[in-house]
This record gives sequence, structure tokens and C-alpha cells, in this order.
Amino acid sequence: MSQKGSRLPFSSLSVVVPCFNEDANVIEIHRRITSLCRELPLECELIFVDDGSSDNTWKCIVELASTDSAVRGVRLSRNFGQQEALLAGLESSRGDLVVTLDADLQDPPEVLPEMITQAEKGAFVVYGRRNRRRHDPILKRFFAASFYAVIRRATGLDIPANTGEFRLARREVINAVLRLREGRPFLRGMFAWVGFTRAYVEYERPERFAGQPKFTFSRSLQLALDAFVSFSALKQRLLFLLGVFVLAFAVAAVLSAGIFGVSDGLNQALFFVLLGSFGAYLVILSFLSNDAPNSQRPNFIVQETVGYS
Ligand code: UDP
Ligand code: MG
Repeated sequence: MSQKGSRLPFSSLSVVVPCFNEDANVIEIHRRITSLCRELPLECELIFVDDGSSDNTWKCIVELASTDSAVRGVRLSRNFGQQEALLAGLESSRGDLVVTLDADLQDPPEVLPEMITQAEKGAFVVYGRRNRRRHDPILKRFFAASFYAVIRRATGLDIPANTGEFRLARREVINAVLRLREGRPFLRGMFAWVGFTRAYVEYERPERFAGQPKFTFSRSLQLALDAFVSFSALKQRLLFLLGVFVLAFAVAAVLSAGIFGVSDGLNQALFFVLLGSFGAYLVILSFLSNDAPNSQRPNFIVQETVGYS
């Protein structure tokens, strides 16, 4: 990278774009980002992560990399999912600033200068916030709103509503996020967990430039589930409450048997003991279960790369 003159506390920018069957968008997003980067006082690298596409996405990326030295490509060995693809891109990024955005141009690159201005003013993380979701179907809007409301309560994390993966962060933040080890990564939770000062830039989310959305309803639901499994103490709390409830019930039963003098000997005693120990078992289980990832598997596997020297 040759040095461009810069007054900023950072001199380079990585743009990370996850791509799953996006051959209709790759050329256009490269064009838009490149013309924008020319205006920025930063060295730019553009990282396309091919998340196991079955169309010509990788071919397009290789072609772009052969003519533009700012283009890098990371090809995952199969389709791992958007979160994993983003993580792969963050891991291969080298910029002082890193921005992640969707390949379909629903996160308009033209918002970038404003994000950089916010970083210049001191924010370590700058979120792109959709000021309206009017292009989304009503059901999707409903689920998104409920998802944020529930996830914020359950995790206690300040995950900003109406933000997706359109986010710019300083190197310090990226390094912190990359230190987290999650069984199923959920980047919105991970960025909220590491903290750092934040700012928001509002933008209008346009329709997809080309191609079909890759997020089916069941994939979105899976993401919501991952968010809970990775970041929420809700399941422990539920176990704990259930245990306390059963224990309390057992104690109440013993007391009422004592007060009302109902007793048929061994059977009843056995029932109390079983119920009481089941309640205690649930409470102990709630203490023992923890959030440690239950697998040592990496989040993704890289098959090949292009543009890295
Ligand atoms: N994506 C990916 N892997 C997947 C699914 C999606 O890398 O398994 C990428 C996709 O190519 C796009 C981004 O994630 O760049 C967001 O996907 P999409 O536009 O389908 O989602 P939505 O706009 O519905 O949030
Ligand atoms: Mg999209």
C-alpha cells in the first residue's frame, strides 16, 4: 500500500463484503466503492468473502483482483453463513478502520464519508441506522422489532435497534471482537459486548440492487436463536426459577400435610423427597450450565485467497 497523505488518526480503510451467490452485484459494488475511495484520504482495501457461492461470484472476484490491486478475495470452503463470512473478512482485514456492508448495495457505500467523520470526531464504532424499514415486508418488521426488544432484555447488552451489519469500527475494536470465541458468532452481540464509544449515522435502506435475498425466514430465526444461545443468561434463569418453584411447591406440600394432618406414610414422604430433590437438581443445574462454547471447531474454513501478497 502506498501512503496517501492523511490528517486523520488513521490512514487505511478495509471494506469487508460477504457474498453468497452475488455475481450480479460484485461488479457494481466494486465500482461504487472504488469511486468513493478515490475521494477519501485513506488507503483502501476491498475484501470480498465468498461464502461458498455456487454461481460465478468467485470468478468475478478473481477477475477484479487481477485488475485492481486493492481487491482481495477470501473463499470459504462451503456456505458457513453471513456472520461467519463477516468474521472471516474481519480476520483478513488490515485497515486502521474496517467497515462491513452487504453485497446487494442495501448498505449504500455513499454513507461511508459520514461514518469516517464520526470516527474522526472520536467514535470507535459507528453504526449505520436505518431510518425506515418501509421496504421490508410487515412481518419482517414486526419480527425485527420484537427481536430487538427481547434480546436487549435477555442479554442486558445495548444492541442498537434498526442496525444491521453496516458498521465502521476502529482497529482496536476489531481486535477486541476477534479475541471473542463464540460457538455461533453473533456480531451485533459481540460488538455490543466489547463496548467502546459509539455514534450513529442514519440512512435510508434501498431495495436490493440485484439477485434474491439470501435470508429466508428460518435463517433469520436461526440467527435470533444463536443470539440467545451465545449471549443470554435467560436459559439459566429459567432453569433456576423452575427449580425454585418446584422446591417451594415441595415445601408447601410438606407444610400443608403437617398442618392438616394428612398422612399416608411412606408414599407421601417419598413424593416429597422426589419433588424436593428434583427442584434442587434444577437449581444446581442452573448454576452449572454456562455460556462456554461447546465445541472447539473454528467458525469457518478458508479454501483459497486472492490478492494477498
Ligand atoms: N450472505 C452470506 N452468506 C449467507 C447469506 C447471506 O454471505 O449464507 C450475505 C449476502 O450475500 C449479503 C449479506 O450477507 O451480502 C446479506 O444478505 P441478504 O441481502 O440476503 O440479507 P437481508 O438483506 O435480507 O438482510
Ligand atoms: Mg440484502
